[in-house]
Amino acid sequence: MELLEKRIQKDGIVKAGNVLKVDHFLNHQMDIALFNEMGKEFKRLFADKPINKILTVEASGIGIACIVAQYFQVPVVFAKKTQSINLDGDVYSTKIESFTHKRVYDVIVSKKYLGPEDHILIVDDFLANGCAVNGLIELIENASATVEGIGIAIEKGQQQGGRILREKGYHVESLAIIESMDDITGKICFRR
Ligand code: 5GP
Repeated sequence: MELLEKRIQKDGIVKAGNVLKVDHFLNHQMDIALFNEMGKEFKRLFADKPINKILTVEASGIGIACIVAQYFQVPVVFAKKTQSINLDGDVYSTKIESFTHKRVYDVIVSKKYLGPEDHILIVDDFLANGCAVNGLIELIENASATVEGIGIAIEKGQQQGGRILREKGYHVESLAIIESMDDITGKICFRR
């Protein structure tokens, strides 16, 4: 998506450790006009899928997921990061390792909001090694729901998450795929 790629070139900052900061428009300050265009594009890319719910993980996926959901006219559920797992069986839970914070979180979704009748579009801001998306897939499978697709704003193509998910047969659409980025020169190249 050219609009997103241009914005990344303009405002993205490449940090050491293969981290791209997009705080200016995506996951701290949020450009809602841009999110709207992303929502429209996801709707076009997943138009043939019977999606009835969007699933993301807190915190930075939530804003994008909410705008995307307006185009699908479906609710958003976000997996919550939690310190203490509720053991009374009313939640699905898994562990997600955070790429940016280098720690493992327990994440939960209430059984009230995910079930066998659900056809899910997973939405997140970044796809890197795939830990976040794989955690969400595990929650969906535990609920006997169906993964209809995975919509990502920025995929870091130099990491393996996207390739592995596509090889497993998931329909992954990333609006911008980074081929390489350099924290010394600041140069970012996209896969086309
Ligand atoms: P993964 O789980 O695929 O390794 O990483 C995806 C998650 O880590 C996303 O939910 C995102 O919040 C965070 N993340 C991964 N790479 C980056 C990055 O380069 N910049 C930012 N801001 N977040 C990232």
